[in-house]
Amino acid sequence: MKYLYFDLDETLFTTLDRYSSLSLPQQDSLDNSVDYEFFPDQKSYPLYRSRHGLIFSHLALSPDDFRVYVLTSAVYVDARIRKGLAKFFGNRDFFWNVPCINRFHYPNAQNKGEKILLHMRGLEQANDQGGLSGLEVWLIDDQPGNRLSAIAVGAKAIASDAADYITKLEQLVLGGPVELPAKP
Ligand SMILES: [Mg+2]
Repeated sequence: MKYLYFDLDETLFTTLDRYSSLSLPQQDSLDNSVDYEFFPDQKSYPLYRSRHGLIFSHLALSPDDFRVYVLTSAVYVDARIRKGLAKFFGNRDFFWNVPCINRFHYPNAQNKGEKILLHMRGLEQANDQGGLSGLEVWLIDDQPGNRLSAIAVGAKAIASDAADYITKLEQLVLGGPVELPAKP
């Protein structure tokens, strides 16, 4: 079983006012043909829309191999996260059940790594002594500090702003790169 924690902002979507802070591959991947207000009056746009859609389709079909969670530092409410992700990436039933961890969960945790550890303990996957050892836990996140905090508790991390992001995510989820159907 692999446990995947997905960051939201600048990993799965972004706002236009943050466009200039994105990496070039992220800028190239932005799809401004669709938007959703995860926060009222703030339009967000998906990153790697078709690639993420394909990857989430596989995750939705592989509940015995993967558990997927949203881990955000933002204050988005669950219903909007789920509705917006389904609008961007399809797989409505899958997203409607995705557990969401936001800024208000685990208020005593210092960082995302500690939140992952506490969450895994809550799932009775991690124990108090062993941490995440023996478990395959991944954080997918654009912020180096978040990734380091996850690595510090024994998780692995994928940089969602890196040029090889999708390659690494497809390797993890699909076992290798996948050809997208040509656009009509
Ligand atoms: Mg982020």
